[in-house]
Amino acid sequence: MRNADRKPSDPAGPDPMSVAFEEARAAAGRGEVPVGAVIVKDGRIVASAGNRPRELRDPSAHAEMLAIRRACEAVDDERLSGCDLYVTLEPCTMCAGAISFARIRRVYYAAHDPKGGAVDNGVRFFGQPTCHHAPEVYGGIRESESAALLKEFFEERR
Ligand SMILES: [Zn+2]
Repeated sequence: MRNADRKPSDPAGPDPMSVAFEEARAAAGRGEVPVGAVIVKDGRIVASAGNRPRELRDPSAHAEMLAIRRACEAVDDERLSGCDLYVTLEPCTMCAGAISFARIRRVYYAAHDPKGGAVDNGVRFFGQPTCHHAPEVYGGIRESESAALLKEFFEERR
């Protein structure tokens, strides 16, 4: 059974944040900053992606951006109303903007990012009056696991 055929309530199926972590670990294996993202619609995973800016030579190839593009293709729409995003790191300003434009319903993220985050840190994008769609946000889910993954990656690269 493919991940897309499973529901989070399916005890045999992975929960979306676990799939995001798999994507993050795969990204680390490619030499990318370990961040993974998953998009869920109606209880089904419609897209998942890990960071690929180095591989694609594209600074916009963050996990969230790639997952949003794939999800839009999967649902054949430029908006992801009713979709939820799971990501292992607090989204940056660029990704927060894309999340807003995509009309994503909820964002679940793991580690807070005081340096690059734009949701609960930095510009707090969704709280700005110029932000026309703000998702519900739940941060800090499995935070220590994501923080450890990032710490390990950057320590190995030193
Ligand atoms: Zn980003």
